[in-house]
Amino acid sequence: MDIQPRQGSQPRQQRRAAAHDLQALSEELQQTVDLITSLTNEVPGLVFQQRLLPTGESFLPYASAGIADIYELTPQQVAASTAPIHAVIHPDDLEAYRASLHASATCLTPWHLEYRVELPGQGLRWRQGDARPRRLDDGSTLWHGFITDVTERKRIEGELQEFATIDFLTQLPNRRHFVARIEQELARIQRTGSRPAAVLTFDLDHFKSINDTWGHAMGDHALRYFATLLRNALQKHDFAGRIGGEEFAVVLPDASLDTAARFARCVQHQIAETALLDGNHVIALTVSVGIALMHATDASADLSLLRSDGALYRAKERGRNRIECY
Ligand code: GH3
Ligand code: MG
Ligand code: MG
Repeated sequence: MDIQPRQGSQPRQQRRAAAHDLQALSEELQQTVDLITSLTNEVPGLVFQQRLLPTGESFLPYASAGIADIYELTPQQVAASTAPIHAVIHPDDLEAYRASLHASATCLTPWHLEYRVELPGQGLRWRQGDARPRRLDDGSTLWHGFITDVTERKRIEGELQEFATIDFLTQLPNRRHFVARIEQELARIQRTGSRPAAVLTFDLDHFKSINDTWGHAMGDHALRYFATLLRNALQKHDFAGRIGGEEFAVVLPDASLDTAARFARCVQHQIAETALLDGNHVIALTVSVGIALMHATDASADLSLLRSDGALYRAKERGRNRIECY
């Protein structure tokens, strides 16, 4: 006996199969969403989607759990507006933050920025943001990106920068950094046509015998003492450096030889007046000074340093504790 399929059972079976497929698809989709969500939540930092409407409003349609760490905010707080993010960005970096996003949206170039945040819990921290923008049909810009904590890296970079530019003993710029500053000053004089700068070189007299008599530690103390004295004598645009063992240099922008000589006399006067003591013993410290001017016509910045050194050499030759001009 032939068994005939009952009328209507075929479409019902199809419907059942279709419903089953749909359910399977929906489960698969849910699994994918779960996977992406756990991935983005596990990645250290904030994974986000940011949208900028043509009206200028911006918000984060998606923010991973890392937003709690990065901005001390919740995804809900930024779902309608990025204002809570702006509120935690360091005021000095906010302009750069806005401008970088604006440039990225205008030119559709990747967004990259290192900036500081000031958070209620963590305090001052460094953040690095990277995102790629794309334009949507309605004229909005949509970024996908991530933000990470780079505070530790910034701290190390700062330390390295300091090691490379600052003399550890005196905390003055080292020779390399000082020469770089002098080059900037020459470039400024050449660009603006302003008056020459005075370059002064200082060399402590008979310093070897200070070490020999009082010990190397006392010599170090004398170097720090002289550096402090020099630093205190500087005005706003002047700068100093330790350019050798017991040699220092100062640049006085817009200064004549007379002004520079006055500065040098004042420094000499101060080390003569303020006694450097080791217990009850007064350590006599004197300094010889050479002065030269830095001219716009100088081909390089070290020429003025060489001229100043030449004058210093003469000050030594003529008996030390003297000031000589080139
Ligand atoms: P002059 O009057 O001709 O300048 O004589 P001087 O003894 O100062 O010059 P010299 O160049 O012969 O000696 C400089 C001395 O400075 C030798 C060196 O041991 C000492 N010196 C250089 N760097 C340091 C330092 O970092 N600490 C100490 N304590 N001494 C230093
Ligand atoms: Mg010397
Ligand atoms: Mg010396």
